Amino acid sequence: MASAKPMHILVTGGAGFIGSHLCDRLVQKGHRIFCLDNLQSGHRANIRPLLNHPRFEFIEQDICDPIEIRGPLDRIYNLACPASPRHYQRDPIGTVRTCVLGAQNVLELAVQKGSRALQASTSEIYGDPEVHPQPESYFGHVNPTGPRACYDEGKRCAETLFFDYQRIYDVPIKVARIFNTYGPRMLENDGRVVSNFIVQALRNEPLTLYGDGSQTRSFCYVDDLLEGLELLMESPRDVSGPCNLGNPHEVPVREIARLVLDQTGSRSPIEFRPLPQDDPKRRQPVIGRAQHLLGWFPRVDLQRGLRATIDYFSLHMPSGPLDRANQPAPARVHVRASARSQRPH
Ligand code: UDP
Repeated sequence: MASAKPMHILVTGGAGFIGSHLCDRLVQKGHRIFCLDNLQSGHRANIRPLLNHPRFEFIEQDICDPIEIRGPLDRIYNLACPASPRHYQRDPIGTVRTCVLGAQNVLELAVQKGSRALQASTSEIYGDPEVHPQPESYFGHVNPTGPRACYDEGKRCAETLFFDYQRIYDVPIKVARIFNTYGPRMLENDGRVVSNFIVQALRNEPLTLYGDGSQTRSFCYVDDLLEGLELLMESPRDVSGPCNLGNPHEVPVREIARLVLDQTGSRSPIEFRPLPQDDPKRRQPVIGRAQHLLGWFPRVDLQRGLRATIDYFSLHMPSGPLDRANQPAPARVHVRASARSQRPH
């Protein structure tokens, strides 16, 4: 289990879907939290209940800029990056920068403070996998020039940086490869399959099924993921990963449509749309490493997790057009690297 000692912890991307749940959990456990987010795909609403908490500090900042934290820092969870294809493809150059410069800024801070750093990597580093299911030993099958590459290659390079900082500066690192995760606080306009189908079903609008819906994913409920992240962070120093964290229950995407229609009682029809380019055909984690090293296994099954997620959207979704506050920020104007102040290294 997590260390009982109160710690100083930085969560980058702390106002996002996973990051805000992690902040809640760590504050509840007595830790002091610095939450850094540029609010590009994170939202102040996710952390509003924490804003006046004496052990919580919000820093509105882009992770591409050097990070300064006063005082000691024991742990850094690096979750800062738009994670849904719709959001990360909106400003692909910004996504690469966030993955790579963000990881480097986190690691520089870890060197300076002597912190342990956990990288939120992703199943996307396996690309459209030719090995199924995917163990951590698989090097992946990524199209380096396609529209998903900004995220896939960015996250792969971030993993490289983490391991190089471990080799060169002896930073204690942890790399989690996170598979599809869902739950309350997903954005209704995230473009992801679970949030799209739930929002569409609740509005009795057509469910947009891409391709024939036979492509598979394995969906992990957010609470299970948080448990895995914390166990990995607090695992012995020689456990660096990479470590898959995901629910191994693999389902075709069309099955998600069926479950959502069942659970909402919606009258929505299914509308077939073209499959996006480079959309992985199958994805399922091998989680033997997490089971063996962390004693971790997801406990929330898809029915129960979907129920909780549907309940959340039923309560929080405005009935009319998309909530303006929840719409993604307009694409950032990309500033050429040469125009930015560069940190010598
Ligand atoms: N998908 C779909 N309808 C939607 C959104 C997504 O059929 O409205 C499909 C998408 O093509 C992919 C799967 O659902 O095969 C998961 O997509 P998501 O964007 O949630 O995650 P990722 O592709 O990153 O795993």
